[in-house]
Amino acid sequence: MTRNTDRSPSGTQNAPDHPRGMALLRDPFYNKGTGFSDRERDEYGLRGLLPPRVLSQDEQADRVMKYVRQLPNDLERYIALNSLHDRNEALFLRVVSDHIDEIQPLIYTPTVGLACQKYGHIFQRPRGLFVSANDRGRVAQVLRNWPHRAAIIVVTDGERILGLGDLGANGMGIPVGKLSLYAACAGIDPKTCLPVMLDVGTNNGELLGDPFYIGLRQRRVQGAAYDELVEEFISAAREVYPGVVIQFEDFANHNAFRLLRKYRERVPTFNDDIQGTAAVALAGILSALRVTGGTLTDQTILFLGAGEAATGIAELVVSAMIAQGLAEDAARRRCWLVDSRGLVVKSRTDLAGHKLAYAHDAAPVGDFLSAVRTLKPTAIIGVAAVGGTFTREVLEEMARINERPIVFALSNPTSKAECTAEEAYRNTRGRALFACGSPFDPVTLDGKTFVPRQGNNSYIFPGVGLGAIVSRTRQIPDDMFMAAAHALAHQVSESDLRQGSLYPALPRIREVSTRIAATVAETAYRLKLAGETKPADVAAHIHAQMYDPHY
Ligand code: NAD
Repeated sequence: MTRNTDRSPSGTQNAPDHPRGMALLRDPFYNKGTGFSDRERDEYGLRGLLPPRVLSQDEQADRVMKYVRQLPNDLERYIALNSLHDRNEALFLRVVSDHIDEIQPLIYTPTVGLACQKYGHIFQRPRGLFVSANDRGRVAQVLRNWPHRAAIIVVTDGERILGLGDLGANGMGIPVGKLSLYAACAGIDPKTCLPVMLDVGTNNGELLGDPFYIGLRQRRVQGAAYDELVEEFISAAREVYPGVVIQFEDFANHNAFRLLRKYRERVPTFNDDIQGTAAVALAGILSALRVTGGTLTDQTILFLGAGEAATGIAELVVSAMIAQGLAEDAARRRCWLVDSRGLVVKSRTDLAGHKLAYAHDAAPVGDFLSAVRTLKPTAIIGVAAVGGTFTREVLEEMARINERPIVFALSNPTSKAECTAEEAYRNTRGRALFACGSPFDPVTLDGKTFVPRQGNNSYIFPGVGLGAIVSRTRQIPDDMFMAAAHALAHQVSESDLRQGSLYPALPRIREVSTRIAATVAETAYRLKLAGETKPADVAAHIHAQMYDPHY
């Protein structure tokens, strides 16, 4: 484990370029603020620049939490945590790791959605790289302006931020938040994490008219010019940071699927909205099946939504069913999609390419409740970003059809959730096996307390990223997501299941991520995709490379 002290002044005494004095206090990767010891204050010319009292990191973390908790709302908390992130990276990650249950919803979903909507208005200090359509022809030069060596990039073009639509350059909050979780949840060195906003404009009229909008004030570049910019970015990233893992995030459907297809065999890349979501949902289904006693191949899964999340989950479920012996055709017929125009069926002529594999030969059905009545699914998965769509009737019908209905309301942020946890349990008389996209408090019904847990991608992507970096894999195929889903499901204990939790407790996330990283790296070695020979002890090798924010 690489402790933060290894990079701190005392650990790098001989580094000639190590910052000193005020420059040290202004460098978030080295700064410890009032946490600098007396010896460090002498050694690095800090005496007098800090108040005399030395605080331990524990005391600092305690002070941060007290301050954050008394703020009036979550957006203020987001701003305060972001500003800590800008001052003292180690302390920020320490606070996130130690209070992940409380802090993750503040630095990522759901608060990050609100922060992105107001990004221009709360913008203080830039974080990450803004590569704009005006940078065509000089993207490598822009990447070289970044002062560190990137091992992992999260890139968005801001066109489909969570369930909130086109937020243009304001979408930068997403890669920033996501990479904080890579560092906090999987111990990826924060210095090697690079958030990138590919700013090609926005079609959001409100933002274009907003005097404080931070992005290019133009409509989105599309077609060949867009593709050329993405291509230049990918080539430049690989040239400047050989082997870098590139995670696509929150691209709209019309780009997300084809960019993934285009690059997945050329570079170590994945789309978390499609593949990370798929793995976390599959893990949740596998956990639910431990309760129902059913097999995966016997499930009928009905999705509300037919976008990246729905088809991504369906694809991985199909692969998992095939792995359990079902023929591909039969496996696909176990997954059904409902989009804004009703059930996705063969006779429809308005279907986008990514839905076609699930356009089954069946009569058209106009609405979700009718689709539930017709198909009698064992599981419903909500990923349409339309709040309240798992109505009382839908939930009651699921409870009528199934002894233990599987109900995943995955849409984010909370306002878009298909139902609340309370609705899911109440309307199924406590029989739903429930997972959510946004956090919900425990629910007590007839004396039994249910603890719903988030089917959050953050269970998956940090470990996948760490495994990919450590093994220096050339690709990140679906096999790795399947392995990650199984590894995650294995972490769910019997006592988790007894209280209705389909995922492990979030505070165990570093342990969970380490196991996922190990299984991803093992897959890279097995498929001969790794860029280095397999170490004798994969888990120990991974552990040794993880960043520890303690000082
Ligand atoms: P997307 O834009 O790719 O897909 C949305 C889909 O919903 C589209 O197919 C659209 O046709 C369909 N839709 C829209 N209105 C509808 C309606 N009234 N009825 C039925 N279908 C309708 O978006 P996505 O990436 O698939 O994400 C969808 C939602 O899932 C978002 O809220 C996102 O935040 C959430 N999500 C959650 C997780 C998670 O919790 N793990 C992961 C990924 C996505």
